Amino acid sequence: MVAYSCADINPAMGSYEDMNIEGYEKVIHATEKSTGLDCYIAIHSTELGPALGGARFWKYEKSHDAIEDVLRLAKGMTYKNSLAGLDAGGGKAVINLRDTEKTPELLEEFGKVVDSLEGKYITAEDVGSEPADMQVISKITDHVVLTDFDPSPATSLGVIRGMEASVNFLRNEMAPGQSLKDLHVAIQGLGHVGITLAEMLYQKGVRLSVADLDRDKCKIAVEKLDAVVFDTDKILGMDCDILAPCALGHAINKETVEKLKCKILCGAANNQLSTSMIGYALKDKGIINAPDFLVNAGGVIDAYKDFGFIPTNFHVANIIDGIYDRTMQCLREARQKNFPTNLVAEMMAEERFKDKSGDHEKQLLLKLNRKDEWPGPGV
Ligand code: NAD
Repeated sequence: MVAYSCADINPAMGSYEDMNIEGYEKVIHATEKSTGLDCYIAIHSTELGPALGGARFWKYEKSHDAIEDVLRLAKGMTYKNSLAGLDAGGGKAVINLRDTEKTPELLEEFGKVVDSLEGKYITAEDVGSEPADMQVISKITDHVVLTDFDPSPATSLGVIRGMEASVNFLRNEMAPGQSLKDLHVAIQGLGHVGITLAEMLYQKGVRLSVADLDRDKCKIAVEKLDAVVFDTDKILGMDCDILAPCALGHAINKETVEKLKCKILCGAANNQLSTSMIGYALKDKGIINAPDFLVNAGGVIDAYKDFGFIPTNFHVANIIDGIYDRTMQCLREARQKNFPTNLVAEMMAEERFKDKSGDHEKQLLLKLNRKDEWPGPGV
């Protein structure tokens, strides 16, 4: 066990354990008694820059679930940031609220843990946290993305570009129309990103089927967007053009993959496939899978700007727009190689690591100190 290295912590109270997990640069488990802080931070890779990824505040019944979540989410961020062309690595934090509550004191304590990582991990908003929480964390550490707006519109824009590429790929690349008009899209989850996506698709003349555990959210979609509501256990099996999982991870697993009747899978939820092997089942069923970590990067691209790395909103829009080309490249390569698209997208992300020299520590330090420079999209 190591005490946080920041000056103002009482080492007797807050401490962390380095977990030494293979394939990850650093994974820590930090606890602190007075606030009940119980958090894991995983830094999967800083190969391309400081590890950027949100902090998830969630009740995990078992510690094992929290560890599993932080590991897969951190790795997903490495791929997502790389594919988006950002000079950022991948990391994530999960804070288990099973035995405690999200108080300002707990947020500050979490800030101390983030600070002790000296900029190798940059935290941000995620499920269970909001802009005001990041403001509290920023009292303790600079290594936090501060936004005063919801990243969901940026995320939804990227998902729509992924949908347009998938539709054109399926129709005929020689006569691409990009239009989603009159297509039938089924959305699982009408939270921040699901409802924004639904609104944008409605504007494009899309027919919507929706499901959410929260019936009030469904009611809004019916009244404002002419959506048809289905039970949460029926939505994944909808006979539709595009299925958009926008709830929690692992929606597509061994059981549900058998039920799918969509032509395209393209949504915002992270880690939609319970294992990467599910990609083979999707390929065998002839379903076009636009990998989540490729199409849902709009929010992180926007956040990257707020950390000072991308100069203007025009640059942001341009990089999000590029999700169309990156999705198309992924689908073409997958067809050519006869591979699942999720594995091809992982390979595309890994391409960017190859040209990095062994001088990794030096490059990371340079990136940590160059906030005022526009690094440009790397892909
Ligand atoms: P959210 O918590 O606002 O919304 C999730 C919604 O899903 C809630 O309305 C919830 O009731 C619903 N839900 C949960 N389980 C369900 C089920 N079994 N069936 C139907 N509905 C269910 O979260 P969010 O910010 O909208 O994010 C949704 C997903 O997208 C998450 O996986 C998140 O990691 C991912 N994501 C979000 C963003 C973003 O910009 N918000 C960016 C990238 C990825």
